[in-house]
Amino acid sequence: MATYNLRSPAVKRLLQEARELQQDICCDYTAQPLEDNLFEWHFVIRGPDGTEFEGGRYHGRILLPSEYPFKPPNLMLLTPNGRFELNKKICLSITGYHPEYWLPAWGIRTVLLGLIGFLTTKANGAIGGIDYTEAERRLLARKSHNWKCSICGITNIDKLPDDKSNTSQSLSSNSGDSLDSKASKDNEIMPQFSFVYDDERRVNDKDHISKSNNSASSSTSFIPPQSTDSESTTNQLDTKSNESSGPEANPIVRQSIVAQSPFRSVIIIDAFIAVFVAMIITLLIKKFILPSSKI
Ligand SMILES: [Zn+2]
Repeated sequence: MATYNLRSPAVKRLLQEARELQQDICCDYTAQPLEDNLFEWHFVIRGPDGTEFEGGRYHGRILLPSEYPFKPPNLMLLTPNGRFELNKKICLSITGYHPEYWLPAWGIRTVLLGLIGFLTTKANGAIGGIDYTEAERRLLARKSHNWKCSICGITNIDKLPDDKSNTSQSLSSNSGDSLDSKASKDNEIMPQFSFVYDDERRVNDKDHISKSNNSASSSTSFIPPQSTDSESTTNQLDTKSNESSGPEANPIVRQSIVAQSPFRSVIIIDAFIAVFVAMIITLLIKKFILPSSKI
C-alpha cells in the first residue's frame, strides 16, 4: 500500500475526485486510480451513439503530474479504436501537450468527457491521432467489449455494461458541481487573503517610517504620504500592538508628559515663592512690629 502526503494539493484533489467518481456511477465513463499508484488512473469510456464508435468500450491510462491540478494530465488509450494510437500520449487541448489551455477547475471527469468528444473528430495529423475507415472502427468497437487490461486486470464490458439506465447522471453529476462550488469558494477566500496581506503591509510600512525616517525612501514598496487621519489610526494600532516602535509612534502620550512637566515646575516655583514671601513677612514683623510693641 503506497503512502502519500495528505497535505499535497495533488493528493487531496485526487482522493476527492476518486471519491466523487465512485459515487457518481455513469454509463459513459468510469475511472479509478491504480491500487499502488494514485497518480496513474485507468478508465473505460463508451463510444458515442450514432457514430462509428457506437457500442465500443475503450480502456486507457491517465498519467497525472505531481503539480496536478495546476498542470494537465497525459492520456493514452490501450484498446484498439482506430482514432488514437495505442500507448502513446494523446495530443488534445485537455492534455499535457497544451498546459496553456488547462484550467485547475477541470478534473478527470472533464478529461474523459473531452476524450469522448474528441473520438469523433478528425485526427488531422495531430500527435497520437490516426484516421481509420468507418468500417475498421466499427469492427474494433465490437471487439473492444472483451478487451482486458494487462495492468489493472479490468475487462471493458465488466466496468461499463450495456445497461444505460444511469445516463441521466452523466451530465448532472455531483463531481462537476462540487468542483465548481469549490472554485467559487476559493474565489470567495481569495479577497480575504489579499485584505489581510494589505493590512499587514500598511502596518509594516508605518513601522518602517516610524523606525527609520531616513531609510523609508530605499524601500521598494510604495509608501503613500501619511495624512493626519491615517496617522492617528495607525498610531492607535501601534500603542496597542507594537511597543518597540519608538517614542515617535506614541505622540499623544509623549505630549501629555511634556505638557505635565512645566505645570509641575510652576507649582514647585509657586511653593518656593510662597515660602520666600512668608519668610520676608515674618522677618518684617520681627523687625518693625515686635520692637515697637515692646516700647
Ligand atoms: Zn487498466
